[in-house]
Amino acid sequence: MAVGQRADRPANIFHAMRRRADGGQSCPPRASSHPRWRSRSGIAFVTMLFIQPVSATAQDILYAQDQGKAVEAKTVIRGRWSHRNLSPDVRADAALAAMTHQEKIAILNADPIGVPRLGIPAIKETDASLGVANIGNMRKGFVATALPASLLLGSSWDPDLAFRGGAMIGSEARASGFGILLGGGANLIRDPRAGRNFEYISEDPLLTGVLAGRSIAGIQSNKIISTVKHFALNNQETGRAVYSVKISEPAMRETELLAFQIANEIGKPGSVMCSYNRVNGVYACEDKFLLLDVLRRDWGYKGFVMSDWGAVHSTEALVKGLDKKSGGNIDTKLFFSKELEPKLADGTIPYAAVDIAVRRILRTLFASGLVDAPPVQSAIDFDAHADIAQAAAEGGMVLLRNEGNLLPLARTAKRIAVIGGHADIGVLSGGGSSQVAPVGGLALEILHKGPIKRSYGGTAPLAALRSAFPGAQVDYADGKDVTAAAELARKADVAILFAEKWSNESDDNTDLSLGEGQDALIDAVATANPRSVVVLETGNPVLMPWASKVPAILAAWYPGQRGGAAIAAVLSGQVNPSGHLPVTWPAGLEQLPLPVLPGSNVPRANAEVRRAFGFQADRMPFDLEYPEGSDIGYRWFERTGAKPLYPFGYGLSYSAFRYDRLKATGGRQLKVTFRVTNIGGRDGADVPQIYVSPPGRTKRLVGWSKPYLKAGESTMVTVTADPRLIGEFDQKLQKWIIRKGRYGVELAHDAGDTVQTSHVAMNHREVRP
Ligand code: BGC
Repeated sequence: MAVGQRADRPANIFHAMRRRADGGQSCPPRASSHPRWRSRSGIAFVTMLFIQPVSATAQDILYAQDQGKAVEAKTVIRGRWSHRNLSPDVRADAALAAMTHQEKIAILNADPIGVPRLGIPAIKETDASLGVANIGNMRKGFVATALPASLLLGSSWDPDLAFRGGAMIGSEARASGFGILLGGGANLIRDPRAGRNFEYISEDPLLTGVLAGRSIAGIQSNKIISTVKHFALNNQETGRAVYSVKISEPAMRETELLAFQIANEIGKPGSVMCSYNRVNGVYACEDKFLLLDVLRRDWGYKGFVMSDWGAVHSTEALVKGLDKKSGGNIDTKLFFSKELEPKLADGTIPYAAVDIAVRRILRTLFASGLVDAPPVQSAIDFDAHADIAQAAAEGGMVLLRNEGNLLPLARTAKRIAVIGGHADIGVLSGGGSSQVAPVGGLALEILHKGPIKRSYGGTAPLAALRSAFPGAQVDYADGKDVTAAAELARKADVAILFAEKWSNESDDNTDLSLGEGQDALIDAVATANPRSVVVLETGNPVLMPWASKVPAILAAWYPGQRGGAAIAAVLSGQVNPSGHLPVTWPAGLEQLPLPVLPGSNVPRANAEVRRAFGFQADRMPFDLEYPEGSDIGYRWFERTGAKPLYPFGYGLSYSAFRYDRLKATGGRQLKVTFRVTNIGGRDGADVPQIYVSPPGRTKRLVGWSKPYLKAGESTMVTVTADPRLIGEFDQKLQKWIIRKGRYGVELAHDAGDTVQTSHVAMNHREVRP
């Protein structure tokens, strides 16, 4: 036996080498002598072969990787796959042909993923929706720059900000030794109670698709891999492992799938993470329709599909489009190893399925650049990154109300009362796997369940307000004593109330109220001082029974590491707010398609269901039907005529913007031009929006722009509508159909405030899915 060779590798390692006629190069061993275990590509060729003393077998690597440990093989074989100038396809074929069976099984299961023996380094994964995560301080002492919630990114409507944030996260991940980022949340927001909405972007397929895509592109600009997740229809947390979304193909294609499709086109994520839930009765991670028909056949997706943690339910998932099982051994069975082996042996699962999945993973690793330049620990410029976090926060906060232009706060204020929301220590963040321990650490963590904690950190608003108003006395009351807080407010020129509502992965909010006695506190403070400002730190819209009493309201969502500084910058007028709502802000639960949260009345899972559905099963299985179909968000409000508290797209500025010169042309392509002018006294950015109503259907957003205009400045904007946005999906024809007819075009400040309208005649057109 050659040095380093073990029984799990082909005995004929050297015999398998062949001389290549054209270049005298030798080929590597076949993966196995068993014909069914032979690589899809047959024989590949190596140019060089180095063998060094071995310390780890493939089995060691498999086990160590299952335990999340990186293994370095001392035996490194180089071959055709090692050549940077060859295409990822050629390299993947060559590497696949050189892999042993054990190595293939390892790569289907492991984190880190790689084939150290072949010099394909083990690449580590990390959660990274809003920064390189560290849930529950599992990585002791590890800190990273915490970006604001994705919902705040959605409010920015700013693709460049999305790219810059992604690029920042990616560079920190790479410099911290990670190469696969579990980010790119692109599920649509269907319910304002859903616990993970802070990790998602919006209720609209275009806005979500563009921003998720740009954020993924930013991450991957570091030559690493990002996921887009959770594919698909994981729109709420209650019952996420047990519900089955009942939805028609057109409704799916026109909403959630369109968001993922656009995100894929723009971001080209190396991996798609399939979700926990079922869709029309089939688990998303073994849904041939989603993973093979839609993703591979229709969208031509070339990356690999990885499961969410504990979302695999069968070995057959491997032939239905799942390439990699995640999360060690937390599925109900070892589906892609122990359960797989006998099925490969008796042919129930063709060996080609293993090769196809492994090849997709390899190809993605090569294409990303990770193999040639694996991540190495290096210094991070946290100061520069904090500035990006602040710019992101400033770009997405939404000014909801500003009666009498209370904001920006007058510099002449002598006494400012700051109340509640832990504003003295930091800002709130959403809980769960996306939790980042920000640079400087977390200031307060309140245990919820498991590693999920309600956490505060980053720049404290109180300190930031003190430095923004050096001439004022800025006092703080925590708000627990309502009378004391009202008294403090009464003595001040202005009161700033911080109201908070925590959201977290694995739970939904039960309702839209702020809770924790905050409504009464705000009411009392606003009564004591009518010059009150409410800053909301929430992961969703909330009900504001006190709104008419409070002249100014700022939605700061979860504003990230520099949230406090960004809030102070907006309140003091150093920054002109330019965020616009990425979700409709309902006036009450009765306006929602599903006023009762689906699953909330379903009994807890029994032992049998937990055995079958896995550890994530919280309820008995139930169906989740969306009455709105593809009329999601603002389209539902249009359909029902309900008047929300604030419409989708809404947001105020300290300036004012005029829109005119709307010109729309139809035919084959719908194109719109218009002019925006900053008619206010301050420089600032605005988000003019174009909505189109196809004949007989609700309107949909087809484009927007976010120009930054100096006071008095104008700009012309052009929007070209993606035909899929104004089409409908025809299930029989498996095509998007743009019907011939008269389409309404609206130039609007938001979905409820149209400035100019026009009509265009569109030709019949069919577009492939
Ligand atoms: C979440 C994913 C996350 C994964 C790993 C799952 O529970 O749904 O978004 O990436 O855990 O932490």
